Amino acid sequence: MKLKDLSVIVASWESRQWDAFIAEYLPAGVLTDAFWSGRPCPCPICGGKDRFTYTRNRKRGDWVCRKCNNGSPSGGDGLELVRRYTNMSYYELKCRLNGAAMPTPLQLPVRPASTRKPLDSAAKLRRIEQQWSAASCLSPGDHAMQYLAARVPGLRAPKPQSLRLAVQEYWHEKKLIGRYPTIVAQFTLPDGRMATVHRTSLDPRRPEKATVIDAEGEILPSKRNDVSALPPAGGAVRLMAPRNGELGIAEGLETAYAAYMQFGVPTWYCLNRVLLSQFVVPDGLGIQTVHIFADFDAVDEKTGKSPGVADALALQKRLRQAGYKVVLHRPKVRGTDFCDEWRTVYQLRQMSNQAVAA
Ligand SMILES: [Zn+2]
Repeated sequence: MKLKDLSVIVASWESRQWDAFIAEYLPAGVLTDAFWSGRPCPCPICGGKDRFTYTRNRKRGDWVCRKCNNGSPSGGDGLELVRRYTNMSYYELKCRLNGAAMPTPLQLPVRPASTRKPLDSAAKLRRIEQQWSAASCLSPGDHAMQYLAARVPGLRAPKPQSLRLAVQEYWHEKKLIGRYPTIVAQFTLPDGRMATVHRTSLDPRRPEKATVIDAEGEILPSKRNDVSALPPAGGAVRLMAPRNGELGIAEGLETAYAAYMQFGVPTWYCLNRVLLSQFVVPDGLGIQTVHIFADFDAVDEKTGKSPGVADALALQKRLRQAGYKVVLHRPKVRGTDFCDEWRTVYQLRQMSNQAVAA
C-alpha cells in the first residue's frame, strides 16, 4: 500500500480537525483554556510562562513561540507542534495518519542530515544533566545558603537534595553577560525524570539576586529555566521529603521555605503559578494531604481575579477530584506571598520571645 503524503491528508482538514489532532498527541496538562483560546501560555515544547500562542492564523493548527528556536522565536503548523512535542519524524507521523504500522528500521527512508538542527531531546537532556552534575551540594555559609537565610529569616530546613550551587556564565543573545554564583534546581516530573534545571543567579558579594544588565542597559531575569528536555507540566522541585503523608506546594523557592518555616509542612515548588496549577502528585510517596501555599497576587484587571489564587483553586479542585485531602493557604494581605508573611510572623515571634525573656 502506498502511503498518502501528509500534505494530501491534511489538505482537507478544517480548523477543528487540527484541534482534534493536537489534542490527541499533547497531554491535557498543557491544553489549558488559555491554550485553546489563543492567549499567551507556557510553551508545550520549551516551557516558560507566556511565550506560546496557539494562533490558528492559517487554520492549520498554527502556533508561535518566542523562544522555541534555541531562545529565538519560532512557530509552525499543528504537524510541526506535534512532531516537536513527540519527537516523531514526519515519516512516522505519515505512517500514523495513514493508519499504517511503522516499517522496520531498514525500510526507513534515509533523512538527509540538516546543517543546523535545533537541540534534540537527547541533547537537551545531556545539557541539563551536565549542569546538574557540574554543580556542587550546598554547604553552610555558601552563596546559596546566605541568600536563602537572607530571604527566609531563621531558616532551618533539611539539606535540599534538589538544589546545588555552581558558578555559571550568563549568556544572552549569544553574548556573555557575566559570571554569577547560581542556584541550580532540579525540576522533576511525577515519574522521577528530570525535565529541566532552573537557575537563580546571585550577586557575588551580597546575599541577594544578581542584577543582570546587558550592554544596551536591558535588565535580564535573574531566574530562568534552562532548556526543557521534557515538557515540564506536572513536575516540581522536590525540596524535601514529604512527612506523614503530607506535602506542601508553592510557586517559588523562597515561598516554599517560608511556608515550611511557618507551617512545618515539607514543601516543594513548581517555579510559577501555571506549573503549580498543573502539579501532579507522584505515586509511591504515600502522599494523601496536599497543602497549597498560594501567592496572593493583586487582581488582574482583565480577569478580575488574583492569578496566583485562581491557579491554586484550580489545583485544589483537580486534586480533590483525584481523592486527595487539600488545604489551601493564602497570605492574609493582598499583594503578598508567604515569604512576606513569614517575615512578619518571624518578627512577631522574636518580639514575643524577647518579651518573655525580659
Ligand atoms: Zn517554545
